[in-house]
Amino acid sequence: MLQDTFGRTIDYIRVSVTKQCNFRCQYCMPNTPFDAFDKDEYIPLDNVLEFLKVGIDQGIKKIRITGGEPLLRKDLPEFIAKLREYSKDVQLVLTTNGFLLQKSAEILRKAGLDRINISLDSLKREKIMQISKKDGLNNVLLGIEEALRHGFGIKINSVILKGVNDDEILDLMEYAKNKNISIRFIEYMENIHASDAILGVREKDILEKIATKFKFKILDEQIIGPAKLYQCDDGYIFGIIAPHNDDFCQTCNRIRLTAEGVICPCLYYQDSVDAKPALMSKDPKEIKKVLEQAVFNKPEKNQWDESMPKDKISARAFYHTGG
Ligand code: SAM
Ligand code: SF4
Repeated sequence: MLQDTFGRTIDYIRVSVTKQCNFRCQYCMPNTPFDAFDKDEYIPLDNVLEFLKVGIDQGIKKIRITGGEPLLRKDLPEFIAKLREYSKDVQLVLTTNGFLLQKSAEILRKAGLDRINISLDSLKREKIMQISKKDGLNNVLLGIEEALRHGFGIKINSVILKGVNDDEILDLMEYAKNKNISIRFIEYMENIHASDAILGVREKDILEKIATKFKFKILDEQIIGPAKLYQCDDGYIFGIIAPHNDDFCQTCNRIRLTAEGVICPCLYYQDSVDAKPALMSKDPKEIKKVLEQAVFNKPEKNQWDESMPKDKISARAFYHTGG
């Protein structure tokens, strides 16, 4: 079992398999050139597999595959199948922008993937183009349908931006509700890579908007994780991820592995462990050592402080850590 110095059990790893992306979301990497990343820097997925096997042996119960855009990796289904072969119990989940999901949903299901979180910030074609610089709405919606058809549990993630998609909170909720998909509204988290032009919308304003149409209450029993959950009168559950208000640190159960083989014990703390040599060696003893080191280094609290000047607030890119 992996336990940190504050008594928290670490049983969840988020693995970024690439920094590359086919979108250029304004809150993530608005201006990064498409050829900015060198593929050779990435740890081969076979090595990541050996790392995760050790993690599973040490008590990891959930693995989230993220990026960049993970569906850009052609070897992803094979990687998932090998993970599933190693453990039938580990939860395998994916976070994707959904653009390539229509053609990969079936093979991902067959490989043994359990659930998918899909980012969808708008139901308007022009708004998706404005936010992500890609004419992607149709593909994403088709991807959602295909994933549902193949029996995936799905969640939708929507980052709400002032003056951009804050008029669509109810529409996004209706869309998800009609399909019985849970939606998580995410507060925009300030970071130096995001566009200067954007402003987020806070939890209070998101809830006020939802209250104009739906009656809901906060759920007494919260699932461990960053989302605060609310239940509508008809039983539908939605969530809000509000880092500006909430402190998730006490129950944090996760670490992150970047595509270059760096373990980040905390999203908002600059400390990290270079696990690349251990990953490249595929030596279980070396891998166990770096895993334990990262868990040992996990800080009690993050250093998130939105009142800091923008250039100091967070240098960690979401496309690097996987969000
Ligand atoms: N490309 C995939 C996607 O967009 O779902 C996976 C990687 S993306 C970095 C993971 C999540 O981080 C997405 O749901 C995205 O909306 C969220 N995200 C990225 N930048 C963010 C920011 N500045 N504030 C809040 N959420 C952010
Ligand atoms: Fe790509 Fe996801 Fe970042 Fe958007 S949020 S640019 S889809 S990695």
